[in-house]
Order: sequence, then structure tokens, then C-alpha cells
Amino acid sequence: MKLLLATSNENKVREFQHILASLAPMLDIHVISLKEAGIADTAKEDADTFEGNAMIKAKAASGNGYITFADDSGICVDALDGAPGIYSARFSGVHGDDNANNAQLLKKLENVPDEKRSARYVCAIACVLPDGKSFTVTGKAEGKIGYAPKGHCGFGYDPLFIGAGSDKTWAEIPAPEKDSISHRAVAAKLFIEKLKEYTCDNND
Ligand code: IMP
Repeated sequence: MKLLLATSNENKVREFQHILASLAPMLDIHVISLKEAGIADTAKEDADTFEGNAMIKAKAASGNGYITFADDSGICVDALDGAPGIYSARFSGVHGDDNANNAQLLKKLENVPDEKRSARYVCAIACVLPDGKSFTVTGKAEGKIGYAPKGHCGFGYDPLFIGAGSDKTWAEIPAPEKDSISHRAVAAKLFIEKLKEYTCDNND
């Protein structure tokens, strides 16, 4: 099954290829990028939800005969009323500067006690099928924000994010462990269930 991932980020293509293929070997999934499909990246992510932004990206790349999907993710901190949320990649003002984003998060949580540092990672996946039908699924991973960056694995806010029931940040746990519990893994499992339904319906 060929899936078009609406992104120009080749790392994301590799990551989803690995996650989806290992979740459903029987679907023989092959994830291709916009570049591989010869489609320009024109999406303007201006929705106010993860689901909305993922759908904008998926719809912009759809209509080419492929099952087309896109994801949008970030971290939501309760003490900040859900911020940085959809603005996670540029919380500090500089897009993709993980150190600056983490510093900004710690600054905003100065003097916030342990019991109020709850947070969750969220990942929405939107999919547009060749017949134009579409759906979204959302995965979440609960945890809290630490007081200083710890660990060197992962990316983004991982050095500050302590998963529920653990005392280690996601930058201190091995990648396969993170990949089995992450918001992306939860969303990917829900996505695979929907793809299986689609495959069954279209083989009837
Ligand atoms: P995107 O949806 O991949 O563009 O991710 C948006 C931003 O959310 C990233 O730049 C990170 O700051 C943050 N983020 C999303 N998922 C993760 C994760 O698994 N670990 C750490 N940060 C993440």
C-alpha cells in the first residue's frame, strides 16, 4: 500500500515508514514524500488545532490518486492553558530552536510547583482517501515538565518531558522505548486501524 506523506521533511517520512510498517507488515506500507510524488509543498498551516493543521496539509497534497496523510504535533502544558500547543516548534520566536524553546518553557514555569506541571504531547494524523473521504485520529502521551533539561536522546521538548509513571525524561530513555509509548505511536496505531477498515471495504 503506497501512502503519500504530505511533508518535505525526509526524516518524518523515514520515521512514519518505520512505525507504520512495523505496526502492520501485512499492509506492505510504502511511504513516499511530496518530492518523490512530484508535488509542491503549498500548505499554509493556519488552523487553530493540531487536527485542523494536519488536515490542511493532507488536503493540499491530495487528489493525486494516493492515500494522502499528514501529521501535526506539539506539547500542551496545563499551567499555560495548553500552550505552546500548535506553536510548539516556535515557542521562543525562532522556528525549530529546541534549546531556546526549552529555555522559554522553563522560564514560563518558574515558580510553578510540581503538582501543576502536568503536560501532554499530542499528535494528530489527518488522511484523505483517493475517493475524497477524510478522517483524523489523535494520539496523546501524558506527563509533566521537569525543572532542567536531562538526557541527550530524542528532540524538541524531550529533555524536559517526564512521562507519566516514570522519573526519567524522554531524552533519557532509549528511542525504541519512546517510540512504543509516544503520542505518535498512539496516533499511528489508530491510523493503521482506519487503514485496515479502508482496505477491507475496498476489497469487498
Ligand atoms: P511537528 O508537528 O513535527 O512540526 O512538531 C512540532 C513541534 O512539536 C516540534 O518542533 C517539537 O518542538 C514538538 N514535538 C512534537 N513531537 C515531539 C516529540 O516527540 N518530542 C519532542 N518534541 C516534540
